[in-house]
Amino acid sequence: MNESLGHHIGDEVLRIVADRLKAAVRHADLVARMGGDEFVVVLDPVSQDSEAELVAAKILARLSEDLQLGNQRLRVTPSIGMVICPDDGDNLADLLKNADAAMYAAKRGGGAQLSRFSSEMAEASMARFTIEGLLRRALAAQAFRLRYQPIVDAATLRILGVEALIHWDTPERGVIPPAEFIPIAEESGLIMPLGEWILATACREIQQLRTSLGLDLEVAVNISPLQLRQAGFPAMVTQCLAAAGLPAASLTIEVTEGILIEGGSKTIDTFERVRALGVGLSIDDFGTGYSGLNYLTRLPIDKLKIDKSFVDDVAHDEHHQAVASAIITLGHQLHLQVVAEGVESPAQFAFLRDRGCDAVQGYLFWQPVPLAGLMEICAAGGKATMHAKVQAVPTGY
Ligand code: C2E
Ligand code: CA
Ligand code: CA
Repeated sequence: MNESLGHHIGDEVLRIVADRLKAAVRHADLVARMGGDEFVVVLDPVSQDSEAELVAAKILARLSEDLQLGNQRLRVTPSIGMVICPDDGDNLADLLKNADAAMYAAKRGGGAQLSRFSSEMAEASMARFTIEGLLRRALAAQAFRLRYQPIVDAATLRILGVEALIHWDTPERGVIPPAEFIPIAEESGLIMPLGEWILATACREIQQLRTSLGLDLEVAVNISPLQLRQAGFPAMVTQCLAAAGLPAASLTIEVTEGILIEGGSKTIDTFERVRALGVGLSIDDFGTGYSGLNYLTRLPIDKLKIDKSFVDDVAHDEHHQAVASAIITLGHQLHLQVVAEGVESPAQFAFLRDRGCDAVQGYLFWQPVPLAGLMEICAAGGKATMHAKVQAVPTGY
């Protein structure tokens, strides 16, 4: 709210929330603001857990009511974590820590809910804490690597470009997949330095490959919504391109659909400034965050990536075929390139190619490989090795 509507509105919302909290509890109970958007309510001894749950439900209901501020109608989404003393801790530090873990569980569950602390939450929060520590050390030690997955022209089977994917092999726990640590990097703010490293490295490595092989290869880099919300993001992109010597037109930024739908005017502004640099923009996981297509006409997008979940059943399931075909048609009518990801079988590929999908990416062609592996693939011509395998694919799906 601070970002999209201004600090005075943010402050006013906090004041109203505080009033509503006070109104929902008894006089003897304590309401305090911990900072940011976090509040603590301490109930005077309750005789049963259900009594505390009742109060929490009342708070949820009150806080969920719309707020009228001038001519703005706003809504907050409260997430409540509940601890009972002494069951969930017998000292202040433990109780606060556990309430925090329970609150995060409520948030991750989609918000607007109450979550009672459990020991699994303590374990999950311990695991997050451990990974955060490992992340910090790995950043300092530059222990991350990038892998690159070729994106192939569906008609000619030529490699058009690659998607950069982070790869983290830890001495302590082996390979930790990005789905596990990227959310933790986001929650802890570590995504900022990490994201910058990813972009700088991808630009540098791919430019290195381009010059040494004399190839015109594009690179797509995944960008977290948090990075896009930063005012300095376009400047950072400019700097990475300049340091690497990579032409702006050879870089594409991949963002998921959600950010465009929720993103305020600042996000869209950042988007336009990045596009003005000549960098391409691609909508990742297209179709999964669907809630309206208006943004497609308002934003300077170049590519849509059909999510793997639609590709998975595209050879057999009529509904998935309909969705995939519709996305391809929609993309083309908006003059966008359509890329399908997670293509694993010849039948999936044949269907997508026959519907006019522009580019494909997936294990059928290549898994993500380290830079040296990508050099070998490109030096060997890339295309020829796949040709025999895919030539055998019948048409007419
Ligand atoms: P994504 O952007 O949708 O990336 C595609 C994921 O699908 C990658 O998983 C890739 O290895 C996997 N994949 C590609 N082809 C196939 C296939 O044919 N079959 C199967 N089963 N999987 C395939 P990965 O590397 O585990 O990345 C997962 C997610 O983590 C990415 O999804 C992306 O959202 C995030 N991520 C990865 N690297 C980065 C990064 O550098 N920065 C940011 N912000 N997020 C990243
Ligand atoms: Ca992606
Ligand atoms: Ca994706």
